[in-house]
Amino acid sequence: MDRPKILIVDDKHQNLYAMERLLRALDVEVMQADSGARALGLALEEDFSVAIVDVQMPEMDGYELVELLRGNESTAALPVIFVSAIFSDEYHHRKGYEAGAVDFLSKPFVPEILLSKVQVFVALYHQRRRLLTLIDELDRANESLTRSTLQLETSAQVGRQVTGNLDPGGLLEEVVSLVQSRFGYYFVGVWLYNERREALTLQAASGRNGLSSGAALAISCDADQSIIAHAAQTRQIYLCADVACDELYLALDALPDTRSEIALPLEARQELFGVLDIQSSRLNAFASEDVYALQILADQIAIAIRNARLYSQIVRLNEDLEERVRQRTADLEKAYRELEALDSQKSDFIQVMAHELRTPLTLVRGYGQMLLEDGGYEEDSFYHQQLRGIVLGADRMHDVVNSMLDMVRLESGAVMLDFQILDLSALFESLRGSIERVLRERDLTLTLEPDLYQLPEVEVDAESIAKLFAQLVLNAIKYTPDGGAITVSGRCVPGPADGPGGQHVEIVVSDNGIGIAPDLQDLIFTKFYRAQRALLHSSSKTKFKGGGPGLGLAIARGIVGIHGGKIWVESPGCDEATCPGSRFHVLLPVRQPEQDLPGL
Ligand code: ADP
Repeated sequence: MDRPKILIVDDKHQNLYAMERLLRALDVEVMQADSGARALGLALEEDFSVAIVDVQMPEMDGYELVELLRGNESTAALPVIFVSAIFSDEYHHRKGYEAGAVDFLSKPFVPEILLSKVQVFVALYHQRRRLLTLIDELDRANESLTRSTLQLETSAQVGRQVTGNLDPGGLLEEVVSLVQSRFGYYFVGVWLYNERREALTLQAASGRNGLSSGAALAISCDADQSIIAHAAQTRQIYLCADVACDELYLALDALPDTRSEIALPLEARQELFGVLDIQSSRLNAFASEDVYALQILADQIAIAIRNARLYSQIVRLNEDLEERVRQRTADLEKAYRELEALDSQKSDFIQVMAHELRTPLTLVRGYGQMLLEDGGYEEDSFYHQQLRGIVLGADRMHDVVNSMLDMVRLESGAVMLDFQILDLSALFESLRGSIERVLRERDLTLTLEPDLYQLPEVEVDAESIAKLFAQLVLNAIKYTPDGGAITVSGRCVPGPADGPGGQHVEIVVSDNGIGIAPDLQDLIFTKFYRAQRALLHSSSKTKFKGGGPGLGLAIARGIVGIHGGKIWVESPGCDEATCPGSRFHVLLPVRQPEQDLPGL
C-alpha cells in the first residue's frame, strides 16, 4: 500500500524544513507548499491524510486556504491542523475551528503532541483506504451478482420457452430477442445449416440495428471465412475480444458498430445444428462468467431445436401414416363391397341352381321310387339295388338343394316364421326316436340330461329350431367315432349383457368326437366351410366323417340369429386319436319380443 501523504503549508522554508524533519519519524510521505495557492493545487492533485497549515501567511492566510479547501468536493474532507505562534488565544482558536480545522496547535509546540495528533489522522487515513477498498470490492461483487442473476433468469426463461415451444421458427425468434434485450447486446443471431449443409443461414436475429430475422442472409461454411463458420466447423466456442485484430471477423454491413463477438456452436446429442452468434459494440465485452452462461443458453437452444425437429418429423410421420391408413381403409372398403357383390351373385346363383335342380330331381326321385315300387324287381336283384342307389342319391341331392335354398332364404331374410310354444325336451325325444337306427348302427349313445326336462317352454319357430338341433346332433354323430357318446343338456340363464335381456335357455350338444381346432371355431359357422376337407371319407349324413356341403352350421347360425339368440362352439382342439370332443352351445330367449319379430 502507498505511504500516507501529509501536506505541510508554511510560507517560511525553515519551518517547512523543520516540520518535515519532525515528521520523518513517521512512515509517511511529506509534501511541502510554501503558499496557500500552492497548497490548493497540491490538495486537488493528491490524496492527503492530513494537512498541517500555518495560519499566518501572506496573500492567503491559513483560514482562507481551509475555507477554499472545504468549498471543493474533492478536498472538503481533508483534515487540517492549524499551527500558529502569534494568535494563540481563544478567539483565534474558534476562528480556526469555524474555518474547518480539526485541530489546533500553538507554537512552540511539543513535537510528541504534533506527532501523536498526526498519527491519529494517518491511522484514520489507513482505515478510510481499507473501507474504500472494501466498498469497491462490494460494488464489484454486487455487479457480478446482478449479472449472474440476470443470466440465470434469462436461462430459466429460455428454458421455459424452449420446453413449451415446438415450432422451431417462433422459438428461435423469442430466444434471440430475449437474450438481446436482457443483456443489451448489440446483436444476437442464430445461424443454422441449410438442408444441404453447405451454408449457414440467419434463422433468427435481434439487435439494435437494421438486421432482423427477415434478412435472408447466408454465409459460407468455410472455417476461415468467419468466426461463425469457425465455431461451427470446430464445434468450439470462438471468443473475439476485439474484432479489429481478428482476421476471422466477417464484417456485415448491417452491423457497423461491432467491437467484439462470440460464436457458440449449437450442438445436442452430437448433432450440430448451427451457431449462436452474439456481437457487442464494446471491446472485450464477454467475461468468463458470461461465456459460461451463454454456453448454457446455447445448449438449451440446441436441445430445443432438436426437440422441435423431432416433433415435426413425428407429425410428418403421423400424417403419412394417417394417409396410408385412409388409403388402406378405402381399399378394404372397396374389396369388401366387391366381396359383397360377389357374395350376392353367389347367392343368386345358388338360388337359381337350387330351383332349377329341384324339378328334375323330383322327377328322378319320383320315377325311381315308382320303378322300385312297381317295377317288379326282386329286392336283392342287381337292378333293385341300382334303383335304390338312384333314389338315395336323389334324396341326398334333394337335402343339399333344400339346404341351399334355406341358406339363401335366411340370408335374404325371406324366412316364413311361425312362432309357437315348444317343449325342447319333447323335441329332443322325437329327434332321438328318428335317429335310433343310426345310433344303433354306429354304436353311439345320445343322452338327454335331466336338466333338459326342467327347462321352461320356449317361443320359437318349431320347424327351424328342429332343423337346428337335428343339424347339431347329426354333426355330433358324423364327427364322433363309433362307440362314442353324445349328450344334450340345458339350463336357464339370464340374457346376455349385449342383448335385450329376459330369461334365456342354454342348450349344449356335446360329443366325444374328433373336436375342432381353436382357430376354426368361428370359421365353421360360415357357409361352405368344412374343417376336415382332406379327411372326408364319404358323403353320408351319418357315417363317421361323412362329408357335407358345409352349410349345416351356417344355417344353424342363421336360425339362431332370427330367434335373437347365439351359437358358439368350445373344443380343446382337433385330434382323431385322442378325441377331445366338442360342445355346441345354443342360447335362445324364452320369449320373443312383442314387436319386431324377425322374418316376414
Ligand atoms: P358339413 O356339411 O361339412 O358337416 P357343417 O356346416 O355342418 O358342414 O360343419 C362345418 C364343419 O364343422 C364340418 O365340416 C366339420 O369340420 C366341423 N364340425 C361340425 N360339427 C362338428 C363336430 N361335432 N365335431 C367336429 N367337427 C365338427
